[in-house]
Amino acid sequence: MKVLDLRCSHGHGFEGWFASNEAFETQLAAGLVECPVCADTRIVKLLSAPRLNLGNAKAPAEAAAASAAPSSAPAKAQAPAEQSPEARWMRAVREVLAKTEDVGERFADEARRMHYGEAEERGIRGQATREQAEALLEEGIPVMALPIPAALKETLQ
Ligand SMILES: [Zn+2]
Repeated sequence: MKVLDLRCSHGHGFEGWFASNEAFETQLAAGLVECPVCADTRIVKLLSAPRLNLGNAKAPAEAAAASAAPSSAPAKAQAPAEQSPEARWMRAVREVLAKTEDVGERFADEARRMHYGEAEERGIRGQATREQAEALLEEGIPVMALPIPAALKETLQ
């Protein structure tokens, strides 16, 4: 699996998880890669910094929050320009949280059921391990890491 550093045309940086570089290129060409902050699909891949070290398993057991959105996800409203990037990011995350159903630990199962037409297609979020995310990506199911600001996380629990 590839964890790519991406940036939209508005300069928002974010991480995307893809089965391979080819999977990234395919999804990008299909307009499926979008900025989590502004939903821009003009995404460029940054040169990956050598900071990624999957061997370092002591990084918080990857209770990564992930979100899968159907390609028909509604466009997000523009945030007022005077907001700081942090405020805009918090707002965007809140918006994603408001528009997605929290399926918690069932994230991987639910994403798979939606993909195979066994469940209604909708935006969901939940917890997935890096291994689960990798398996989903290998099956061609788009998932995305959504780093949730600690401040928001606390109010959510
Ligand atoms: Zn953006």
